Amino acid sequence: MYREQFDRWPQCKDNYDALLKAERRTIVMGDLPVMVQCNPARARSTEAKVDAASIAERPCFLCAKNRPKEQLAGQAIPDFEILINPYPILPVHFTVVSKEHQRQDAMPLEMVNFVDMTPQAVAFFNGAKAGASAPDHLHFQAVLKEELPLLSAVERLHRYSDGTVKLSTELGDFPMSFLSVIIPLSFEGMLMLAELPKFGGLPDGPEANPRDFVNTLVWMDNGDPEGDDSPKMRALVIPRRRHRPDCYFAQGEDKLAVSPGALDMAGLIVTPRREDFDRITAGDIAEIYRQTGLSAAELPEWYEGYPDFIKYTGR
Ligand SMILES: [Zn+2]
Repeated sequence: MYREQFDRWPQCKDNYDALLKAERRTIVMGDLPVMVQCNPARARSTEAKVDAASIAERPCFLCAKNRPKEQLAGQAIPDFEILINPYPILPVHFTVVSKEHQRQDAMPLEMVNFVDMTPQAVAFFNGAKAGASAPDHLHFQAVLKEELPLLSAVERLHRYSDGTVKLSTELGDFPMSFLSVIIPLSFEGMLMLAELPKFGGLPDGPEANPRDFVNTLVWMDNGDPEGDDSPKMRALVIPRRRHRPDCYFAQGEDKLAVSPGALDMAGLIVTPRREDFDRITAGDIAEIYRQTGLSAAELPEWYEGYPDFIKYTGR
């Protein structure tokens, strides 16, 4: 699909070629090597206006009728189309879109179909107010799982023998707060999966829908080499408080144009502006996670808000 897409759409190929030259650096924060990527082509997404009025005014870029005529659409999942993301963050980057124009309301379980078909991939969901640049059109994305430092850290620290559910605070020293879930390939696992789309965050405004404030990632792992080696599915649920941190809106020296979605929350911080890439520090990143996610202290109480999920996991 990539070969055919690149032949048909040279601009798309140029964007992937440019990505290979994108600079990266690592900032170790506790148990996680956070990756910072300088990626000027992502400015269109980072700067996207996602307020209701701006969304209503523009033609939806995920609807088939508005997509570039060069863009291929893979048909492997019922009711969805698999697109190659023309503005990639990573060298393999798919956007999987609903055939119907419908709101980004909750994580679609088709993410499970995708990683079942593609065990090298992690599928991820940006809630409507947690990084989605098309909150009006249901979609998820997928990249190669080896590109996300958080996934390998979680696989290392959350062993099968530890049980199905761990809060990030129980696993190690992480700069962001999340729930780690190991999903057995069994009936109990199916029940757990069915609960995943109900998770949300803790938005500040009382009128806000908690489900709009969440990032969810799903992937197949390779089995625990020291124990049960049968592959299992894993999920990370990252509850959010808001979409963008204060530094996004700051002017001059204080501005850092970071607009976190699931990948940023999973330890891959994208900075479209060169000056931000050069000067962002561990302290800045910790503050971005603190403002847009939950604190370690808030996490247990947040989790208590999902009694149906707890019923299936036993804790
Ligand atoms: Zn649409």
